[in-house]
Amino acid sequence: MSKGTINVSVDNIFPLIKKFLYSDHEIFLRELISNATDATLKMKHLANIGEAEGVEYGDPKIEVKLDKKKKELRIIDQGIGMTKDEVEKYINEIAFSGAEEFIEKYKDKDGKDAGIIGHFGLGFYSAFMVAKKVEIITKSFKDEPAVHWSCDGSPKFTLEETDKKERGTEIILHIADDSTEFLEESRISELLVKYNKFMPIPIKFGTKTETLPKPEGAKEDDKAPTKEVDNIINNPNPAWTKQPTELEDKDYNSFYRELYPMQFEEPLFHIHLNVDYPFNLTGILYFPKMTNDMSIQKDKIQLYQNQVFVTDNVEGIVPEFLTMLRGVIDSPDIPLNVSRSYLQADGAVKKISSYITRKVADKLKSLFNSDREGFEKKWNDIKIVIEYGMLTEDKFFEKAQDFALYPTVDNSYYTFSELKEKIKEIQTDKDDNLVILYASNKEEQHSYIEAAKEKGYEVLLLDSPIVTHLLQKVEGSQEKVSFVRVDSDHVENLIKKDEEQISKLSDEEKEGLKTFLDSVIPKEKFSVQLEALDSNANPFIITEPEFMRRMKDMQKTGGGGMFGMGGFPEMYNLIVNTNHELISEILNTKTEKKKERLVNQALDLARLSKNLLKGEELTAFIKRSYDMIK
Ligand code: ADP
Repeated sequence: MSKGTINVSVDNIFPLIKKFLYSDHEIFLRELISNATDATLKMKHLANIGEAEGVEYGDPKIEVKLDKKKKELRIIDQGIGMTKDEVEKYINEIAFSGAEEFIEKYKDKDGKDAGIIGHFGLGFYSAFMVAKKVEIITKSFKDEPAVHWSCDGSPKFTLEETDKKERGTEIILHIADDSTEFLEESRISELLVKYNKFMPIPIKFGTKTETLPKPEGAKEDDKAPTKEVDNIINNPNPAWTKQPTELEDKDYNSFYRELYPMQFEEPLFHIHLNVDYPFNLTGILYFPKMTNDMSIQKDKIQLYQNQVFVTDNVEGIVPEFLTMLRGVIDSPDIPLNVSRSYLQADGAVKKISSYITRKVADKLKSLFNSDREGFEKKWNDIKIVIEYGMLTEDKFFEKAQDFALYPTVDNSYYTFSELKEKIKEIQTDKDDNLVILYASNKEEQHSYIEAAKEKGYEVLLLDSPIVTHLLQKVEGSQEKVSFVRVDSDHVENLIKKDEEQISKLSDEEKEGLKTFLDSVIPKEKFSVQLEALDSNANPFIITEPEFMRRMKDMQKTGGGGMFGMGGFPEMYNLIVNTNHELISEILNTKTEKKKERLVNQALDLARLSKNLLKGEELTAFIKRSYDMIK
């Protein structure tokens, strides 16, 4: 037997390893299974290129074995194994110095970046986060004796020959007293599913009972025969590692269920990612059905590195608007042992992010072109992603011109250029601006929508929470185009034409009316405007100027906070239609009191139709109305 001391410069690395990644102890299993996988794949490679004469690659698997009584966890592979010299070199020197360097680099970071650093980098020595003693029994594919390495967490180790016959490596962890959770079958199962579900070599964890078909001639109540088989926890050939040409829609859908077993809705469509230059990346993204509710979602995009799960926090790698999608991304080129801020500045990562954006845009465009009707049907479920992308990514905004849809209240869908073409005749105002009318709620804005439709205008239905921000952006990208919500003014004023307004009232009458109204109507709430409208239009109409409402909307959804935290004053326009009969009646009424009552009643009716009359004022209004009819 040989004994030795690992060359230490950090006094005792093991307690440090333990302390450092306190929240990420569980990654030890992923690290050890990754090593076992690498060793197996190396064997395969050597066998393939004929470097390993007389060696049978066979059908290797990795086995994870738990012995709760002995407090042992074993990871056994049939990979290339190590000779004595290799253990000296790879475990005592390379693995150790790797771990040491890692600790040196990050020990002062008080765990701030531990989340991402913990994703990768520690390797074999992470075993010491959960084990008080680690043994390696390994036999190389080369014709050399097997060896047994053992280390109890101090820098001292032993190394001796042993009689293991089969090729491969067995790692034995003697689980420490503070880590007994890793002796629970359910915990190990959970970790295997979390990190190793799609690793490329089959992983066995115990056995399971499989029911076989009943033999011919068996009676009805005869029990079906059963058989104990290996419990393989992973799918070594997940869909994203295959070529798109090998897969059909149903394969993509069943992979979706494999990824998200608790998700019962089918995805709307998928995007298969596959590049190898200038970086390596494969993956499948799915568009799930989405609502306007942007609350936190549980099923997120998962990031893998060579089929090993890394994280489901893809912030920085995938553009923000696409984090609403689901699926997997697998890339060996994403640096993971660095902080997020570094990640976001990294050139390769930026390229990956813009590649993904481009692929998504291309896919949307081809769906739009190949099946417009189907695309329109899906629009409501996907618009939030597209609109958010248009708002936040200029490149995507440009590309989206080809497929972003503007639906009308009557369920017609136009692209922006189709819409412009359709409405330019009637909806261009006297200053040559194209005015696009929209509603945000068909019920609440019903009367305004009807009035606009009566004039032959198209009214869009734009109801996403971020739509105000997006309209600002669209207006900024176009010459002489403005969006106006249908209830922001009287229909005659929405799109100003050169038509003369003829008023029934003389200037003198108008002035008298204005003075009176100003004395009755609270100035801090309403700004009174006399307008000569159609005599059939309502006498009092409350509107909220587009600008004011937008500012309010934007403040609600973040951004545009010009008025700070104080919020906006509740201020509306009160349009008084001087051509309506009621206005003449008010003017002709002799007693001040009666006049005032008419004005208040008309104002309340206008407020009622805008959903602004509530509480005490509503009660007073109802009482007054009863008094008037009795
Ligand atoms: P890394 O895997 O990043 O190189 P590790 O600390 O995990 O670092 O392992 C160090 C080295 O030890 C590996 O590169 C490999 O050569 C060797 N090794 C570890 N585990 C095994 C194994 N199961 N079979 C064969 N060699 C192994």
